Amino acid sequence: DKITVSLLMNAGVMADLPSLEKSGAQGVGLYRTELQFLTQVQVPKRSEQAKHYSRILDSAKGKPVNFRTLDIGSDKVLPFMKRLQEPNPALGWRAVRVGLDRVGILRMQIQALLRASKGRPLRIIFPLVSEYIEFKSARDLVLKELEREKVLNHTMPSDIKIGAMLETPSLAFSSDKFFKEADFISVGGNDLKQFFFAADRENELVRKRYDSLNFSFLNFLENIVKRCNQFNTPLSFCGEDAGKPIVALAFTAIGIRTMSMRASSIGPVKLLLRSVSISQVKKIIDSSRESGKSSAREDLTNWLRETKAPYF
Ligand code: PEP
Ligand code: MG
Repeated sequence: DKITVSLLMNAGVMADLPSLEKSGAQGVGLYRTELQFLTQVQVPKRSEQAKHYSRILDSAKGKPVNFRTLDIGSDKVLPFMKRLQEPNPALGWRAVRVGLDRVGILRMQIQALLRASKGRPLRIIFPLVSEYIEFKSARDLVLKELEREKVLNHTMPSDIKIGAMLETPSLAFSSDKFFKEADFISVGGNDLKQFFFAADRENELVRKRYDSLNFSFLNFLENIVKRCNQFNTPLSFCGEDAGKPIVALAFTAIGIRTMSMRASSIGPVKLLLRSVSISQVKKIIDSSRESGKSSAREDLTNWLRETKAPYF
């Protein structure tokens, strides 16, 4: 179909990086920085953080790395942080909300990232942004730190891109300003799905109840694609679903062109995407939607079976 799809990998520890070359990933679409914090007994010092990020960039050998700032709270509890008694932790004090309320930790991390870049391009992404103003505040912090680093005569990144993770339905409906100002947007499908369907991602009773190929969800994602296309804002999808070949195929058909997944999923996803016609897949999805089905899965699976596509 002359469509180019970029596949990137998710990572969170140094040991993940050798997979970058082996898997054929075009970069790290999501680097979960909290993993360094989760394995320590106290907040890692700025210099330790900078050293870690710099080693990641060294290993990436020029391929892009999206460093996600600390995503703690909810399912990710730091061993050295007092656990808050929140009635609904997934809806609670977490991710960028913590960063903006405890700005010292976020500033330290941003400084570490800026110093780690050592004249290389730097990409920073904020987790669980729910409204434009949160993105703007976090972005302003980066720009302020950048100015401070300049005054201190530190080497600046050669380029800086600041993005947001779209993990709450509210952000999909935020102002045009958000879509214009974000250098890139990545859908965190694990969280987005739990909020979209009101189904706890940690609760086995409901976790798998709602299909990612459910048309409500696909329609919603399609709308995000439209809004990003309107402003030429690069969009990616980085939840676990992107690593499932049939889901990645459907996402491609609705216009998602960049997906980030576990390194081990890249091969199977690439194989399927290259084996079938995306315009055909789109037709199957559209007719399934028109027929009134809840999900595209059955029709898509049957079609893949008939065409003997390498789907697993
Ligand atoms: C997500 O929510 O989809 C995501 C990629 O982030 P995490 O799984 O780390 O919350
Ligand atoms: Mg998330």
